[in-house]
Amino acid sequence: MKIRITIITVLCSMSLLSQEKDITTSLYDTYEKYKETSITKRRIKHQDIQPLISQYKGKEGYTVKKVGESIEGRSISLISIGTGGTDVFLWSQMHGDEPTATQAIFDILIFFDSDDFKTEKEEILSNLRLHFLPMLNPDGAEVFQRRNTLGIDINRDALQLQSPEGQILKRVRDSLNADFGFNLHDQSTYYNAERTAKPATISYLAPAYNYEKDINEVRSNAMKIIVFMNRIIQKYAPGQVGRYNDDFEPRAFGDNIQKWGTSAILIESGGYANDPEKQEIRKLNYVSILSAIYTISNKSYEAIAIDDYEKIPENDRKLFDLKIENINYPLLGNIYKMDIGIQRPEVDKKKHSDFWYSSRIMDLGDLSTYYGYETFNASGYTIKPGKLYPTKISSLNELTTIDIYSLLEKGYLYVTLNTISKEALASPAPINVVSSTFETPTDLRLNIGVNPTFYLEKNGEIEYVVINGFLINVKDKKGHFSNAMIFR
Ligand SMILES: [Zn+2]
Repeated sequence: MKIRITIITVLCSMSLLSQEKDITTSLYDTYEKYKETSITKRRIKHQDIQPLISQYKGKEGYTVKKVGESIEGRSISLISIGTGGTDVFLWSQMHGDEPTATQAIFDILIFFDSDDFKTEKEEILSNLRLHFLPMLNPDGAEVFQRRNTLGIDINRDALQLQSPEGQILKRVRDSLNADFGFNLHDQSTYYNAERTAKPATISYLAPAYNYEKDINEVRSNAMKIIVFMNRIIQKYAPGQVGRYNDDFEPRAFGDNIQKWGTSAILIESGGYANDPEKQEIRKLNYVSILSAIYTISNKSYEAIAIDDYEKIPENDRKLFDLKIENINYPLLGNIYKMDIGIQRPEVDKKKHSDFWYSSRIMDLGDLSTYYGYETFNASGYTIKPGKLYPTKISSLNELTTIDIYSLLEKGYLYVTLNTISKEALASPAPINVVSSTFETPTDLRLNIGVNPTFYLEKNGEIEYVVINGFLINVKDKKGHFSNAMIFR
């Protein structure tokens, strides 16, 4: 008898899972139909999302409420749909430079406003009330920074509640007394799933609500939803999920929201190869969050074993944009073998609507426990400093008329521009532009923080160059390149 009941339970949960698999697959396959195409870059602002919010004002079934203002007076809105008894609250961009889920929220809203998936949507909206709060920190978004205008991290303000943005989050959570809370963030692209070269494209946490890290029903429900979403991400980005350390942080919102009785699910959007604007990750947010909403509405998550939560690999931070292995580094008459770890930090342009890369050597030596989005085994190659091209140029435009690759092949990695305008930030061509007073390095001294510009020589020939952290094969002209530097 017992066995038969178990079999029936397994069959039931299997059919539920396959049902969800189906909706997940359909959501993934039809995503482009629901994508909000006016916001496809990470540097989105308050003004970009106002028309998107406004279109739901007065619409049947929707409640759009202004729930407060940021320090600089930007409105913060809550969009609610559904008539069910379970409240699900989703808020994004508490950190101003973490916009991926804000974009996904508007995709999800388009999904609900469409004519498709009628049965599933009826089920969701009759069982749940969904509440979306996109961009909790619009002042931070304006200047693409983590913190708010007070200079504080809103996510450490859950107890003191000094920031109006933190007060809004607390007030809305309390007024809804939400059953589920999705705390939506972005994390550094340099996180990986521990002991693998896979980026942590998505990381999860069901935050602890006390130092003992106890698991009550509120927290275990969050864990179950995470296990459910992890399975979905594994399908589309295998191995690219991390689990955050669950040490209790008494000041953080996630931890307190869990404590206040809302099952808190932290989702962090990390990195994905060749996806600088995180649009693939946005899609994964859309698919996994919508699927999670569906599983909450039909309660199929209840059968999930929380043991699987601990099986998700831990988050680690061991990725570089470019890792060069086993290079020969000549120094003061000797040759040393080492690895080089390179990152390409972004520098914002004026008005924080765009950026350029200013790369850095982040580590040197034995980096065998680290990984790269791009890894180059430089065994047999010797690293050499770039040379200054003897002919000066008179404008940045002139770079488009020169065969840059023929210069790179000869080791010329710098070119002099007579007058560099104030506005010029970066070189659009794979060669660094320097002023006439700039001293081009004649010997190469690698160190932390140094801009990675050098060439790799083998048997007296130059095959590869690294310009501002971008590796370029000079023979076949292949390599991922965005911009070189201007040195004044
Ligand atoms: Zn964050």
